[in-house]
Amino acid sequence: MRSYILMISLPLFAYLKNRSGMLFKDIIGQEEIKKKLIKTVEENRISHAQLFSGPEGAGCLPLAIAYAQYISCENRSGNDSCGTCHSCLKYSKLIHPDLHFILPVASTPKVKEPLTDKFLEEWRVSFLENPYLNPAEWYKAIGLDNKQGFINVAESYEIIRKLSLKSYESEYKVVIIWLPEKMNKPTANKLLKIIEEPPSKTLFLMITENSTNILPTIYSRVQMIRIPKLEEAEILLTLQQKFDFEEVKMKDAAHLADGNYLKALNVLERAEENKLHFEKFTTLMRLCWTNDIPEILNWVEEIARVGRESQKQFLDYGLRIIRENFFININQGISDVINRMTQYESDFSVNFSKFIDKNNVFGITNEFNQASLHIGANANGKIVFLDMANKLVKLIKK
Ligand SMILES: [Zn+2]
Repeated sequence: MRSYILMISLPLFAYLKNRSGMLFKDIIGQEEIKKKLIKTVEENRISHAQLFSGPEGAGCLPLAIAYAQYISCENRSGNDSCGTCHSCLKYSKLIHPDLHFILPVASTPKVKEPLTDKFLEEWRVSFLENPYLNPAEWYKAIGLDNKQGFINVAESYEIIRKLSLKSYESEYKVVIIWLPEKMNKPTANKLLKIIEEPPSKTLFLMITENSTNILPTIYSRVQMIRIPKLEEAEILLTLQQKFDFEEVKMKDAAHLADGNYLKALNVLERAEENKLHFEKFTTLMRLCWTNDIPEILNWVEEIARVGRESQKQFLDYGLRIIRENFFININQGISDVINRMTQYESDFSVNFSKFIDKNNVFGITNEFNQASLHIGANANGKIVFLDMANKLVKLIKK
């Protein structure tokens, strides 16, 4: 699974400082969805079990929480929560007593019997720092390392217990289930009855990035809200409002993001690294084309000195550029739909794509993949890259 873990702390969400909670206006794009959600409240036809389904970085989770806050707001307008009432203030810290969470978790050195409530502090910090967070970031925040989180049957007992109590402060009790696909069968079976016949004024808002993995018994009982990926222009506008990077970098990030805001942030943070990979890659291709053995040896010496992780990232980078160039070659030109490249990569590819065709693309791709496998298996970097360069010379020269 790819993960977009933020490496440096960017001032992502200024609104978190003004403590008004998750307002619709702070969510990127999705105007039609917002209108539809607001309409359900205005027309008093809020469905008691809803599934927000959309790709990573589209905003399903912040939308569901903004919706819950709007329903609970004591002074809402026709288009947003007030941000200042008693309820909104509690939502701004995710501490409203009628807002419950069920999240994927697992045992950690500190928590032996995992249950969402034992990770609520981490959840508040993680979500408030970045409402667009993905599962990998969440698992990292609670110290799961390479483990996955699950929703186990203890959560079902706990939520049934909580829902049997009366609402504290709001008309509605809201249960946010983030990633219902992480439920196993016993958990789902236990929850079914209460989802089918919930206590009055109880809402289940589920959020998924992978609706096909949800157990059918749950899936068939929810009203589906499909959240589309974001528009490139919406992502660009958000980046421009929040950050102070060079314009061309933000344009590249919005373009490469492919509708995923989280990915746009990641691209911005990795812009420097990307540029270095690009330089290494273009140098290698030029040297292989001219069959410049002494310089190829220098190039190999250089890459053999960087860490294995970096070597693997370089190889991944190379695979992406090769793939894009092959697409350009067979489509006879750079098409915006499939072209996911920065400006400088596109400029380079105008010529380079002529050299990547159906006769060599599989061979070249195979060399990069093999090198990646060998590096992953701790083979000697110098030998791996020298071998790869030798074969590329033959594959690229025609
Ligand atoms: Zn309010």
